[in-house]
Amino acid sequence: MQMEQLYQKTLDRWGEDAQYDQTVEECAELIAALKHFRRGKVNQQAVIDELADVTLMLGQLTWMFGTERVKESVQKKLEKLHKLLEAPDQQMEE
Ligand SMILES: [Mg+2]
Repeated sequence: MQMEQLYQKTLDRWGEDAQYDQTVEECAELIAALKHFRRGKVNQQAVIDELADVTLMLGQLTWMFGTERVKESVQKKLEKLHKLLEAPDQQMEE
């Protein structure tokens, strides 16, 4: 099954709001896993598993909001980062 089909089926089954809620929840789980990893309470796999959950939700939301629009925004931010890296004295603003 194509990812797009999977995203559509997920949206059909649980609805739009559930996707936002699930993304928030998965981000929170990743935050917790990273904090625990820093304190040596969980191993790398725990972080990887949460990264996988967030990656899937980012795919879902990116598809929902428009892959091209997100790509455009990522491109702009990469250009900004590139400029920042060329001028190492400056602080990142966003
Ligand atoms: Mg999770």
